[in-house]
Order: sequence, then structure tokens, then C-alpha cells
Amino acid sequence: NKQLIFRDYVTGLPKESDMYVTTSTIKLKVPEGFHGVLVKNLYLSCDPYMRLRMSRVEGYSSSYTPGAPLTGYGVAKVLDSRHPDYKVGDLVWGITGWEEYSLITPTEGLKSIEQGLKKIQHTDVPLSYYTGLLGMPGISAYAGFYELCSPKKGEYVFVSAASGAVGQLVGQFAKLLGCYVIGSAGSKEKVDLLKNKLGYDDAFNYKEEHDLDAALKRYFPEGIDIYFDNVGGKTLDTVLVNMRVHGRIAVCGMISQYNVHQPEGVQNLACLLFKRIHMVGFAFFDHHHLYPKFIETVLPYIKEGKIVYVEDMVEGLESGPAALVGLFSGRNVGKQVVVVARE
Ligand code: NDP
Repeated sequence: NKQLIFRDYVTGLPKESDMYVTTSTIKLKVPEGFHGVLVKNLYLSCDPYMRLRMSRVEGYSSSYTPGAPLTGYGVAKVLDSRHPDYKVGDLVWGITGWEEYSLITPTEGLKSIEQGLKKIQHTDVPLSYYTGLLGMPGISAYAGFYELCSPKKGEYVFVSAASGAVGQLVGQFAKLLGCYVIGSAGSKEKVDLLKNKLGYDDAFNYKEEHDLDAALKRYFPEGIDIYFDNVGGKTLDTVLVNMRVHGRIAVCGMISQYNVHQPEGVQNLACLLFKRIHMVGFAFFDHHHLYPKFIETVLPYIKEGKIVYVEDMVEGLESGPAALVGLFSGRNVGKQVVVVARE
């Protein structure tokens, strides 16, 4: 069983050497007395929150254990089961190990980022989508945009990290509703993707905009109604002064702050008051009850080609460290997935 082991707690930017591969021999059977399943992992999801679990400091989950495999979202196939709800051959998605085979005690649902397994009901879409579009990033985009931003047709929407796993969906949801939507991303390739494939009205490379305030005023001369924040920091601060009265901000993530020692950026919080802005942080697992409604809404869109999804696949567990670390330099173009096996 090849495994990707977490070496030790990280400060600053994570490095590939914070993880290493080991191999051991295991029996492909659920041991007697273990009331769970043995799965073969197919697709593993690289998610920014995993960086938070690499620190000793606790956020809304516990730290990874040095010397043990990383865990995270993935898609897997049940090879053996001593659990009444799962049988051999079932396809599942949820929290699994960064390894070829994992023993899991299944807990139903998506209630935390430490455990939870769901059976895959719809297999007529790419299975890897359950790491992104139909998985945790998908429900985050759905709940964050529709539930927390109360969007209305014609409103002005801004999305940061707009081409990523979550952002690319928020933009498409906004367009389906008839909003005007602008995205920011960190390269020309991503900006082209936003404009030409993901349906954004326009997009810009924030690394080339030395004056973000001027850029926002150019794209939103009348101000922003909805900001879907994936990055936090200085971007959030500049967006605040460009919000309209009664604007809404969904704080989905703050990736620009995950590797810094001292949080930076927000000076303009008083704008919340002056403009009566509704700004709300959320975690997808507080909205897990929406999953059936989300699937019901999104599956037809996928089948009709009204929602597309860009994935960035790397092959093999050995590629995992570079893929995970790459999230923090924007190496990924679309949802970052590690392919362990295809069936
Ligand atoms: P992405 O697929 O968007 O990958 C991360 C991207 O973030 C990179 O490609 C890069 O894109 C951008 N980025 C990295 N560092 C910085 C920086 N310092 N400043 C600005 N942008 C940066 O990731 P996800 O879509 O999976 O996640 C997006 C955000 O949503 C993250 O903050 C994540 O933690 C959060 N999240 C929150 C959830 C919740 O429940 N609240 C659930 C899922 C995700 P670029 O090249 O454009 O800079």
C-alpha cells in the first residue's frame, strides 16, 4: 500500500518535502472486528484547507498527525465491507487517506472535514467530479452563492480565485441567474479560460493590476453587489470600499492568509457599517443538508452542457505533494485532482 505521509508541522509556505511516500504490504480485507470498509482510492482532491491542517494551530479541524498519511476528500471503490450499508463494488466519495487503499469507518454525510462518506448515486458523469463540481467545492459554491448572497438577476458580482475549483462554479451560477460577473485570477491562461470557457463577462489578472482599486472601479463603475471571497487579505479590503450599499460578501476562503504569520489586509471593515454590507463566513458542512437539492439542480445543467468544469489532473500519489503545494502559487488550472487509479 503506497502512502503519502505527512512529515511534520509546517510554518509558512508548504513544501513538497513536507510529505513523503512509503510502501507497505497489506491484506485487501477488512480485519475481523472492524465495522467498516476497505476502499481502493481512485481520485484524491487537493484542497487549500489541507494547509491549515498542516499547522499545529487548530482551525475548524484538528491538525494532521506527523508520520501518518494525509487525509482529504476523494473518490473510491469499496473492495471489502463489514458495514451493512456498503457492499463490494460501491463507489463512494468523502474523507479518505492519501494512499492506494484505506480502511474507513463510514459516517454518513458531510458534517466535518475529518470524516464522512457518501455513496455515489449518479455515475453517468466523470467520477472525478465528486472531488470538485459535485463534491465539497461544488456544495460550497452553491450554498455560498445561492443561500448566503441572495443573488438577484442583473446584480454585479465579483469572484476572486475565479477559475479555481469553487470560483469557476460561482461564476457560472451567477451567469445562469442573469448577473453581471467579473473574475480575478493569477495568469493570462486563467483569464482567457474565464472569458472564453467559463462564461464570465470579463476577467483580469490581479498580478498585473498594481492598483486593484482602479481595476475594480473600471470593471464596476457602479460598485459591487456581491463579492464571493476566496482569497481574503488586501483584495477583500479593496473590495469593501467598492461595495454598493446593502451588498453581500460570502467569505468562502482566505487563501492569501493561510501561509502568513500575521494576518494582513483588512483596514476597511467600517464599510460594513457605512454601506450596510452583509458579510458572512461559512463552512460547506453547515450546509450539507442542501446536497440533494444541489445535485438535483446541477446534474441537469451538466448534462445540458450549461455548466462546464475544468480539472487539472496529475497522475500517481508521487505527484501529490507538488500538486498540493502548487495550490498556493496558482500552479493549478481548475480543480486540482490526483489520479491514484481510474478503476
Ligand atoms: P482553487 O482551485 O481556486 O486553488 C487555489 C487558487 O488560489 C490558486 O490556483 C491560486 O489561483 C489562488 N491563490 C493562491 N494563493 C493566492 C494568494 N496569495 N492570493 C490570491 N490568490 C491565491 O481552490 P478552491 O477553489 O478549492 O478554494 C478556493 C477558496 O475557497 C480557498 O480559500 C479555500 O480555502 C476556500 N474553500 C472554502 C470552503 C468552505 O467551506 N468555506 C470549501 C472549499 C474551499 P490564482 O492563480 O488565480 O492566484
